[in-house]
Amino acid sequence: MPDVGRPIRRVFVANRGEIAVRIVEACHRLGIEAVVGVSDADRDTLAALRADRAVCIGPARATDSYLRKEAIVAAALGTGCDAVHPGYGFLSERAAFRRYCAEHGLVFVGPSAQAISELGDKLRARRIAESLGVPTVPGSDHVEWAADARRFGEREGYPFLLKASAGGGGRGMRIVRDAAEVDAAHAGASAEAAAAFGDPTLYIERYIERARHVEVQVLGDSFGNVVHLGERDCSTQRRHQKLLEEGPSPILAESVRRQMAAEAVKLARHVGYEGAGTVEFIVDLDTKSFYFLEMNTRIQVEHPVTEMITGRDLVAEMIRIAAGEPLSFSQDDVSIRGHSIECRINAEDFRAGFRPSPGQLRAWSPPSGPGIRLDSHCYAGYRIPPFYDSMIGKLLVHADDRAQAIEKMRDALEAFVIEGIETTIPFHRKVLSHPDFRENRVTTRWVENVLMHPANQGPESP
Ligand code: ADP
Ligand code: ADP
Ligand code: MG
Repeated sequence: MPDVGRPIRRVFVANRGEIAVRIVEACHRLGIEAVVGVSDADRDTLAALRADRAVCIGPARATDSYLRKEAIVAAALGTGCDAVHPGYGFLSERAAFRRYCAEHGLVFVGPSAQAISELGDKLRARRIAESLGVPTVPGSDHVEWAADARRFGEREGYPFLLKASAGGGGRGMRIVRDAAEVDAAHAGASAEAAAAFGDPTLYIERYIERARHVEVQVLGDSFGNVVHLGERDCSTQRRHQKLLEEGPSPILAESVRRQMAAEAVKLARHVGYEGAGTVEFIVDLDTKSFYFLEMNTRIQVEHPVTEMITGRDLVAEMIRIAAGEPLSFSQDDVSIRGHSIECRINAEDFRAGFRPSPGQLRAWSPPSGPGIRLDSHCYAGYRIPPFYDSMIGKLLVHADDRAQAIEKMRDALEAFVIEGIETTIPFHRKVLSHPDFRENRVTTRWVENVLMHPANQGPESP
């Protein structure tokens, strides 16, 4: 049963960093109050300052605060909230947290527990996709033993990927290039999956060597309406993690774009999807085919790319949907305008293997101007704690076309003054000035194989 017709007056933000600020601001635009649950280490972040109230939910370590559902629900109830927004990461894709909120009379801003558990498990999602005729990467169902994986290799060939069904954030994956690698990869991947996700289940996908990552943003409401808002291309990755995203994808033919969006909507509609979700696909550049990878049942880090090119507020829309309102627009109302790029600014030294660089921001002076957006929880003097993800902001630009967006982003990155820590700004300047990026020759392996390859590390140019 959807939580239909539940007015939301005060939202509890169960997250931190830039997405917590983003949710607070969306609430305020909707005339809703926002309470932020902070750890001891986050009492002075921008979300705490901007919210109507901030309450401490535990010590710095995420397992003692942001991952403790009891502490979060108690704080939400204690501050008179009627809904919880989980953001991304942390508890956002835990069906048990969704159920726990409902048991305590709190609206969860996101899909049903059933949709989360059906799609959150990659193997289950893959089976659903197959049953609907959505193309999936050729591979196998559950591989319990290394011998099963070796048989797959003998039958279908190498390389293939061993993937954790419960995996996420680019972890729990191993490329297997020949039979000699199978045993170690199988043992390593299942141990890592058990430790990181509490579930050792693995499956196999053929490894696509020359791939682009393209994903479709969908929104569904509790009346069965599902729309898509075009796609984002997130092929600039390191270790299967996104660093730079853009939309629309510069490599899709119009017919493929339409087909991919239709597959995403089909899948979301099948599970009665409510709220914002992303259906991820991988495009094989050699065959031009695309395949379903997974669905993320939450707001995604790179959602502002879609907001820039559609002019829609996805976070506000998901709160309205959770309150039982119908989608405020139809598919015909969605139009894509221009091109947007997002650079994830991480507190990392990319020249030292992307080593984390926490510390105090002695200076913080972001660029501004038409078509420039910064989502961040930082300010001059803020001390970045060492306990969490190293992303300190997302810089976005919007322009009429891709070439202009690239130029605008290069200028914006150059104007962005951050002192006191190392950031990935010089990395992004390197990407944006590289002919491979400018001429769309990037694959998901490009950062590692070309840009950061030791042979290509001459004197710095930007
Ligand atoms: P997006 O596709 O939204 O960019 P990411 O894969 O970058 O998603 O993940 C968003 C955040 O959630 C990151 O901080 C990432 O580390 C975290 N995350 C995603 N999935 C998981 C998971 N299964 N377990 C732990 N953390 C996760
Ligand atoms: P996660 O939950 O960690 O985000 P995904 O299945 O979405 O896992 O994959 C993350 C990234 O790993 C993709 O964007 C892509 O770069 C790479 N990847 C995943 N599956 C394949 C595959 N079958 N072939 C090649 N690369 C893949
Ligand atoms: Mg993914």
